[in-house]
Amino acid sequence: MTYILKCPKCGNVSKEMGPNYLCEKCGTLLEYVYDYKNIDFNFEPTRNSNIWRYEKILPNIRRRITLGEGGTPLKIAEDLARKIGLKTIFLKDETLNPTNSFRDRAAALMVSQALDYGYKKIVCASNGNLGASIAAYCAKAHIHAKIIVPKATHIGKLAQMFIYDAEVVEKGETLDDSLIFVKRILTDKNFYDATAEHNSLTIEGQKTISFEIVEKMGTPDWVIVPMGSGGTIYSLWKGFIELREMDILENLPHMVGVQAEGCSPIVKMFLNKKDSGFEKMSINTQALAILVKNPANSFLALKAIKNSNGIAVAVSDNQIMLAEKLLAKTEGLFAEPASASTIAALSNLLNEGIIDKSDNVVCLITASGLKAPYVLEAIIRRGKKISFRKSLGVKLQILKLLDMGVSYGYELWKALGKDISIQAVYQHLNELEEKELVKSDWKERRKYYQLTEKGKHVLNLLETLILLF
Ligand SMILES: [Zn+2]
Repeated sequence: MTYILKCPKCGNVSKEMGPNYLCEKCGTLLEYVYDYKNIDFNFEPTRNSNIWRYEKILPNIRRRITLGEGGTPLKIAEDLARKIGLKTIFLKDETLNPTNSFRDRAAALMVSQALDYGYKKIVCASNGNLGASIAAYCAKAHIHAKIIVPKATHIGKLAQMFIYDAEVVEKGETLDDSLIFVKRILTDKNFYDATAEHNSLTIEGQKTISFEIVEKMGTPDWVIVPMGSGGTIYSLWKGFIELREMDILENLPHMVGVQAEGCSPIVKMFLNKKDSGFEKMSINTQALAILVKNPANSFLALKAIKNSNGIAVAVSDNQIMLAEKLLAKTEGLFAEPASASTIAALSNLLNEGIIDKSDNVVCLITASGLKAPYVLEAIIRRGKKISFRKSLGVKLQILKLLDMGVSYGYELWKALGKDISIQAVYQHLNELEEKELVKSDWKERRKYYQLTEKGKHVLNLLETLILLF
């Protein structure tokens, strides 16, 4: 045996090796503790680029159900860094996993273990991403998946569950209610529990994110992670700690946990220096993937933040939306709101002088923006607005079109939908030129227009205002 299951809170060592992962003494999620000094581990290349290449520091799994999880890119985001004022930002792009979220790493281990133990049915309470992952891996393993979701679940994630043929049960307003309902289902002993908050394999799967980061860049100065129940930030922290235990790295990064202002219990606990007890709060955020009122793993999240000399911060939904757009516009990466919260937090921490502009920072981009319908709706609404003259000023539309590269009067007139005279378009262009927002050049008997720096600045400001109000 190269590992034991130990309670990180009371130290109790479990006599069983799963799949019941809650400490029988205090109810905390048990932790896999390996015999690190006797593991011969290194980052030598193997044929696998997925999580299974780290099998020496993963629990034993006999039959692997894999869809190619892990091995995601660590992208250098130079343009985003420049906009925010940092030298470089590294984005760990988990949207490129099989079901477009980091949860595939956990689902692969849990569904494989369920198969090893001979289960035919799996139950999972989820805000969406893990439910979609479990549904996909169960489809591959030919196991029945029962996914319990709260009413506020992104439609893109639900669609994934349905197409993978999972049984979807809607229960309660938030994940907190779904978690209670799962306990009732588990009185039927034929179910394997793949709920993140109840299963230590979640942390084992997700810690491989840190292995991949260190393999690519060594130890970052900061790692910024969105927090819901708090398990994800702890997973990454455990990954770094294990590498240190095996003498692969010396220094550890500072961990930053981010929550949405509308629901930020762990941040409040961090600021109040409390380890437990949740204040009653009204919840209101669109970052549904991290909407958890009573975070089951807050103890672990706070441990990661405190032991790493890190920090917990909250960001507003408006900041999240702006960050989401900035990320897409500068790096071509469309992330879900929870992921964009890491960029918003980074910007705040830089302005407050907590993070230095020369620091190496990794932001965890947990899942794709295509899963979140309200984001899609907002973007399409905004996109459509541009083609409607009445909903936005013509001058703003002209600035926007010039920003996209449309360049001369007749072309602009066509792009504006022709329900305005061409003379009026030239009149607007003259006025914009007088205000030095655009400039023109004659080329082959045609007058070409382009945005000035001032024009770009004004356009950015206007767009920000539209987004905010
Ligand atoms: Zn315990």
